[in-house]
Amino acid sequence: MEQLTIVKVGGAIVESDDSLNNLLSKFSNIPGHKLLVHGGGRSATKMAERLGISQTMIGGRRVTDAETLQVVTMVYGGLVNKHIVALLQTKGVNALGLTGADLNLIQSHKRPLKKVKMDDGTVQEVDYGFVGDIDKVNADILGNLISQGVVPVLSPLTHDCMGSMLNTNADTIASETAIALAQRFNVRLMYCFEKNGVLLNAEDDESVIPSITKNEFTSLVERGIVQGGMLPKLENSFSAIDAGVKTVIITNANNIDIEDAGTHLSK
Ligand code: ADP
Repeated sequence: MEQLTIVKVGGAIVESDDSLNNLLSKFSNIPGHKLLVHGGGRSATKMAERLGISQTMIGGRRVTDAETLQVVTMVYGGLVNKHIVALLQTKGVNALGLTGADLNLIQSHKRPLKKVKMDDGTVQEVDYGFVGDIDKVNADILGNLISQGVVPVLSPLTHDCMGSMLNTNADTIASETAIALAQRFNVRLMYCFEKNGVLLNAEDDESVIPSITKNEFTSLVERGIVQGGMLPKLENSFSAIDAGVKTVIITNANNIDIEDAGTHLSK
């Protein structure tokens, strides 16, 4: 099977031109087939502020009401996605920017109401609004594009097949895409962000845990070492490994070209 590297670029990296440019240069040097998934939450928050659309966050997650859905569609599917595609073209990468609605690539359904523990300890049913949980990634179309030499750049948007876009977690798009393409390629999935990997002490960037097995992950969660945004990232990673993705690496965006850097996950 041919090698495919899927890179998910997170949070802070996309927001600064220097870090984005640096990451995209390294991405363009990766040999073989590749695919990029991007986030952009901070850019969406900034644009919503400029438009006077107030944002509600519950437990660190954005509530996507109808107006916010318009903002994230513009910002993720437009501004951020096309900025990345244009930069990749300057680096000789023939990128194609897509949302999950394009070519019917990623189908999802609106997330049902979720019981969430609030800061005051009470449990409430929360409606996250126009947020998608993924049902299907169209691996045939995506795989054919990749085999033709196209480098897809996926924004964190999917569609519900009834005419609505849905805001969808970029980490989940990366892992579900990796799983779907693992039938056809030898997939290496890299989550890159501004830290050096999964850290033993979140304040100390030198405390990288070089490798984590599934059992060790459970223990890291119990000990409270892995928390916040890292928790769903690792859950997504281990489901990808269970579903046939060969390698999952969590690393600094500066180090995606260094084979041993970051945290390597295994069964
Ligand atoms: P992104 O959107 O950048 O991919 P998230 O915010 O979803 O990232 O998740 C990464 C965040 O998880 C880190 O910035 C950090 O604040 C948090 N985190 C929690 N526990 C850890 C840990 N043990 N090691 C590294 N980061 C951690």
